Amino acid sequence: MKITVLGSGGSLGVPAAGGFWGTCDRNEPKNKRSRASILVQSAKTSLLVDTSYDLREQLNRTNTQQLDGVLITHAHNDHVNGIDDLRPIAYHSNVKLPLYANQETLDEIHRRWPYLFEPKHGNIYVEFIQKQLIENYDKFTVGDIDVESFEMDHTTILALGYRFGSFAYCVDVADINEKSLEKLKGVETWIVDAGAYFKEKIGTHANIQRVMKWAELLKPKMTYLTVLTTHMDYATLCNELPPHIRPAYDGMVIDMDSNTR
Ligand SMILES: [Zn+2]
Repeated sequence: MKITVLGSGGSLGVPAAGGFWGTCDRNEPKNKRSRASILVQSAKTSLLVDTSYDLREQLNRTNTQQLDGVLITHAHNDHVNGIDDLRPIAYHSNVKLPLYANQETLDEIHRRWPYLFEPKHGNIYVEFIQKQLIENYDKFTVGDIDVESFEMDHTTILALGYRFGSFAYCVDVADINEKSLEKLKGVETWIVDAGAYFKEKIGTHANIQRVMKWAELLKPKMTYLTVLTTHMDYATLCNELPPHIRPAYDGMVIDMDSNTR
């Protein structure tokens, strides 16, 4: 299984609109971050997690032409607003793309983009998405990839975390309950939201202290931080973090069969 980080940025990206780099070194390519999203792939199956604002560029950058399923964590704009860019992917594969999410997220996406699911104007516009409800934090399989979902507390909303074998992806998350921590046990490679950086007061995203506490408990071999803001410079983070916790970056590939490259 191969994981590709399509986007490692927070909701504004880096640089934010207007060319605002914050404290990030603009000469470090790993500081250029699109909105958070990943691809999870086996030899046969490609899954996308979240459809960010930057989806078109992310799919083109990775030459991704086919998807077997799309998993959504929650319906905040930066995780769903690129959803229209699934249209050419569905069109070229001649399939309705299965979209996996909880009821709240499916309802919100349907409310905002009804034409994804229903033909309109006498079939001039045809639906290209097929809803797949995730209930009770189900386990399910897409192609040959097993997926386990679990609840995450994003303060204003519940988000879904996803586990794929020994890899797990947790955005956006402020806190994780005991039951979900239990589901994360045995994870060897973990990508997790640390968007609050060193802020003491946690709002909607975890800070680094909290992630380190979780990593101490779960002991993944490698933990990668994502949802990185304009205040989180790549080289500075590398100096601040222990070697088993690293900042993710756009284009990072994790080969789950032979560790990281
Ligand atoms: Zn969010």
